[in-house]
Amino acid sequence: MKNNYNSLFWKISGVFFILITIIGITYTYLSIDFSSKYLDEIDQRLNRDTAKNIVENSDPFYDGKVIQPKLKEMFHHVMAINPNLEVYLVDPKGKIIAWYPENKQIKINRVDLKPILYFINDKNKEYIKGDDPLNPNIKKVFSASPLTMNNMLYAYIYVVLNSEQKQAASASAFNSYFLEISARTMAITLLFALITGLIIIRIITRNYSKIVTVMEKFKKGDLQARVVCKSMGDEQRLGAMFNEMADILTDNIDKLKEVENLRRELIANVSHDLRTPIAIIRGYIETLQMKEDFITPEERKTYTNTVRDSAEKLERLVNELFDLSKLEANQVVAKKEAFIVSELVSDISNKYKLVAESKNIVIEASLSKELSPVFADISLIERVLQNLIDNALKFTPSGGKIEIKTEKRNNNTIAISVTDNGIGIPEEEREQIFSRYYKANNFTAFQNSTGLGLAIAKKILDLHHSTLELTSKEKSGSSFLFTLQCI
Ligand code: ADP
Repeated sequence: MKNNYNSLFWKISGVFFILITIIGITYTYLSIDFSSKYLDEIDQRLNRDTAKNIVENSDPFYDGKVIQPKLKEMFHHVMAINPNLEVYLVDPKGKIIAWYPENKQIKINRVDLKPILYFINDKNKEYIKGDDPLNPNIKKVFSASPLTMNNMLYAYIYVVLNSEQKQAASASAFNSYFLEISARTMAITLLFALITGLIIIRIITRNYSKIVTVMEKFKKGDLQARVVCKSMGDEQRLGAMFNEMADILTDNIDKLKEVENLRRELIANVSHDLRTPIAIIRGYIETLQMKEDFITPEERKTYTNTVRDSAEKLERLVNELFDLSKLEANQVVAKKEAFIVSELVSDISNKYKLVAESKNIVIEASLSKELSPVFADISLIERVLQNLIDNALKFTPSGGKIEIKTEKRNNNTIAISVTDNGIGIPEEEREQIFSRYYKANNFTAFQNSTGLGLAIAKKILDLHHSTLELTSKEKSGSSFLFTLQCI
């Protein structure tokens, strides 16, 4: 609330108010200026012939000279007609020879002849102003006419129409009357403009302040704050943009949180998983050192075998962790090439035959007759197959069977599956086994487990836009299947 007067509404309203006031003052000034010009012009038009009439009706000459009594008579005559006029006799060079009313003190004794000549010669009767000898700073409307003697220009009769007296009278009437009208009109116009303006500004800024309120909520930590865009008019876009931005931000925050959780989980798991084989290695080596002279060769063999197994497990764990973190950081690029996947499967199953036999498990490769090459990274796909076969061997008891199958599908893909008749995977664990470090509870007894094999396989297949599908039945076996695109 404390920033209320700083808000957009008040800022725009302030500027609007100042603008309206400037417009109002300009309007009043221009109205007064134009009106006084208009009055002057009317005055000049109506009294255009005043000087001419004076000349026509008076004759200030006697015996070829202007004489004072005759001149005074002429001036009196003028005054009798219109007492507001100021009359000047101006010689052809602009010098004032005589004037009326005589009691007034003239401040200049010359007037500019240009407007007088223009006035006399102008057929269009345009509005023009000339000097006022009583008030040299102000130009005034006038009437003028040449005064001739024996057909020779003797002087000009120059009549200032808007005399001081008349001006004073009209100015006060004008001011009081016109200013009142202008002030009233202005006040009403301003008031209406202001009210409508403020209403419009309020409508516009209301939406902005709604958006700002939501933004402030968001800034303070309410990540669910969103702008309700309906009925927002033009500002709907702005609101929608903020909502999109907020969605992206919250999404990124969620992802960061998730990464952070995974990182913590990883460190906890890694330290646990590394500690066990290290402890075993250390324990057996210490035993070997302490009992060196007392242990039988068989015992020594068992101990060294255990140490070797633990070292192997350690090596595998470190390698798998390294591979998975590279895959998760998108540092692995699939170097795709064309190859016959059935040939790869056949090679791998041959390699595993010996290990399988030692466990009394049969490995069978059932290969598609089709020889369409797939487009994939051969060593990464080999890794996927190895992980699946390793698992199948791990979780299939002696006497079991593993089948590796390739099959051409209609939509130009080849499906590859590894099926065993081992212990199977409980339904509730089927989704989780693909997350890293997940080992189904029942199988923790399997010492060779790292919980990373399927996570690595899944990431590799992601790089090939493929997925790993699992079908399994507890105590009957599991089947993992993925597809690869042919060229
Ligand atoms: P690891 O095999 O090293 O534990 P994986 O990610 O490869 O890690 O597998 C995760 C878990 O999924 C295994 O611990 C096991 O519980 C289960 N699993 C994977 N393959 C099979 C399979 N063929 N048969 C039964 N369980 C399996």
